Amino acid sequence: MEPTWDIETDLLIAGAGPAGMTVALVASIEGLTAIVCEKTRQVGGTGATSAGTLWIPGNSQSRKAGFEDSPEDAATYLDQLIGDDRASEHRRIYLQDGPRVIDYLENKTDVKFLPCGMHPDYRNNLSGAGLAGRAIIPDVFDGRLLGKDFERVRPPIPEFMLMGGMMVGKTDIVNLLGRYKSFAAFRRSASLVLRYLSDRLRFRRGTRLVMGNALIARLFYSLKKRNVSVMFQSPIKDFIREGGVVVGAVLETTNGDKRVRARKGVVLATGGFAHNTEYRKAFMPHPTPPHSMAPVSNTGDGFVLADAAGAGIDTSGQGGGLWSPVSVTTRADGTKGLFPHLAMDRAKPGLIAVNAEGRRFVNEAVSYHDFVEAMYRSHQTASTLPAWLVCERAFVTKYGLGAIHPETRDLSKHIANSYVTLAENLEELASKIGVDPNGLLDTVARNNDFARTGTDEDFGKGDMELNRFNGDPLHAPNPCLGLIEKSPFVAIAVWPAEIACSVGLSTDPSGRVLDAQHQPITGLYAVGNDMGSLMSGSYPGPGTTLGPAVVFGWRVAMHAAGLLSDQKAEA
Ligand SMILES: Cc1cc2nc3c(=O)[nH]c(=O)nc-3n(C[C@H](O)[C@H](O)[C@H](O)COP(=O)(O)OP(=O)(O)OC[C@H]3O[C@@H](n4cnc5c(N)ncnc54)[C@H](O)[C@@H]3O)c2cc1C
Repeated sequence: MEPTWDIETDLLIAGAGPAGMTVALVASIEGLTAIVCEKTRQVGGTGATSAGTLWIPGNSQSRKAGFEDSPEDAATYLDQLIGDDRASEHRRIYLQDGPRVIDYLENKTDVKFLPCGMHPDYRNNLSGAGLAGRAIIPDVFDGRLLGKDFERVRPPIPEFMLMGGMMVGKTDIVNLLGRYKSFAAFRRSASLVLRYLSDRLRFRRGTRLVMGNALIARLFYSLKKRNVSVMFQSPIKDFIREGGVVVGAVLETTNGDKRVRARKGVVLATGGFAHNTEYRKAFMPHPTPPHSMAPVSNTGDGFVLADAAGAGIDTSGQGGGLWSPVSVTTRADGTKGLFPHLAMDRAKPGLIAVNAEGRRFVNEAVSYHDFVEAMYRSHQTASTLPAWLVCERAFVTKYGLGAIHPETRDLSKHIANSYVTLAENLEELASKIGVDPNGLLDTVARNNDFARTGTDEDFGKGDMELNRFNGDPLHAPNPCLGLIEKSPFVAIAVWPAEIACSVGLSTDPSGRVLDAQHQPITGLYAVGNDMGSLMSGSYPGPGTTLGPAVVFGWRVAMHAAGLLSDQKAEA
């Protein structure tokens, strides 16, 4: 008997994050019908809370702004960083297609980007690494254009918003901090705040969207314009297969289960296995990181279904995750949050990171991913989970620390809820946080020697362009090294958490899921964090996961439409 279908479409895409929405958008442009099924009541996933940066070597947006770069140099860089492995072909194709995918989106949709200009690669001491021109960010988006569907865009984490709901990007922060130093900065800051206050008369948060929220809103807006439907609260639950072929899927909706026929395939874009305890234990380092930056809805559903259907798992993403150190916040409603220490504090002068022996274990100004890898290396010999960031209280007021914004003078709220620990001297601080006091005293003394000479003889803080980019340019002789000598002192605990999974499903470069024998499972694709990371667990530069999510999202859709140039050559 013929199976009965509740819904029929060309492509069914599970997950309305950046990866899934890109697939749906491109599929629709290329003449396919597409439906996105989303588990939650909002689009965005982790992408909505992200910084929204894409690493696209050779992109035309940067070139037009005067930043020359070449995908060939980027290939040299990746070869040095990662070498030749199973994902080499994915990387080659990624570099080849990246710039044109971005141009495609810009020309045909409302997904628009801005060049970041200077934004060094994370291992900029390797040859082929770039200092500028590779990173792009989504252009600011006016959430009011979405009307009542603005509510459907997952908000950023509260820790990334000011005044309870105002998003700010990097340039906004510079303007806000400099508001009393120049009239232009004052005017820009005033206009930000006024716009926010007027938004709050009608919306639950500010509608001027930046970073990952702008990317998500732009994708969603473009999908809406093309009448591509997103089925909310409708997680994919099972595949429907005929022979070995995936011909559709069962969705669990608020109106009962729905059988969806997907003529061109089912795309898994469910954001990886972040909240799946079993997979965390299997693929992540031990002790398993206690925290994840992904939304709780990312329970590895795509991964579980494909695993059961005989999909291969690509474990070359060593470590299972792409990491950031995070501190644990207490929100206004008493719930716990996580603040990722990405770029604002660690590189600044006058901050060190220590383990339980009170010893430094890393150049604090390396990338967030490299920092956490160093935590795990250090933890083999001395407890480093958590690691402690130590500085003067004056540092916190000047630069901020984690979720505490610069210019904060009164830390009492943060001390009362144990976000930070404050002490009058270093011995007392060490004893309060359970760190060896002699180790800490020695380490701070050594840091202060380095701060005076400007050379970190132990870990080279400030040596790399990346370090100095996030340091304080007005601080000499080294923008990343400063004294820690004036009481009181502050410490904050940081833990490892992943911002993305790096182990994922095994795919070919068109995103088709491969079985254990490396053969495509017809009708099944994976993209975004459901796809094994093509960077094999490394983090070359800003935008390492969103870049591939968007570029391979395009490739999946083009493959389903039979339009990939390599696919046409094969035929
Ligand atoms: C603070 C932070 C900053 C970051 N900044 C950057 C950055 O600047 N650049 C960068 O490259 N990366 C960044 N990342 C990482 C990036 O956000 C993720 O790698 C990216 O969002 C993954 O995209 P995705 O579409 O695969 O998954 P997600 O964005 O997580 O979306 C997955 C979606 O699938 C849905 N879903 C789950 N299960 C089901 C199911 N059964 N059926 C249907 N839907 C389902 C989820 O609800 C979710 O909406 C950052 C992450 C964080 C936390």
